[in-house]
Amino acid sequence: MEDCIFCKIINKEIPSNFVYENEDVIAINDLNPKAETHVLVIPKKHVASLNELNDETEALKIFKGIKETVKKLGLTDYRTVINTGKNAGQTVFHLHVHILAGKLSIENL
Ligand code: 5GP
Ligand code: ZN
Repeated sequence: MEDCIFCKIINKEIPSNFVYENEDVIAINDLNPKAETHVLVIPKKHVASLNELNDETEALKIFKGIKETVKKLGLTDYRTVINTGKNAGQTVFHLHVHILAGKLSIENL
């Protein structure tokens, strides 16, 4: 999708280091980390938020991507966060899952 920062990262229009990638998701380090480890798992298919996610297969692919990302990072203890809607703190309207581990710099994301 045009003018979507995460689509541009996925399409490599903006260079970024993928900490994990499979055919359905990428995982990147958050630009502004709120924990020692702060990674975003992002589906390659543009979906604006969890409210627009209606495809169960796509949902499973995202969960699989989360599990494969934490495995690659060697994490067993971590927090996952999905902000949905601007009043809940969503700033990028391409669905993504935060993975936070280690010392958190703030209690709530
Ligand atoms: P949200 O607030 O929408 O749940 O989370 C968006 C996250 O994306 C924020 O934590 C923000 O730091 C991160 N972010 C925004 N733009 C970029 C970017 O260009 N690169 C990376 N790696 N992270 C970004
Ligand atoms: Zn997008």
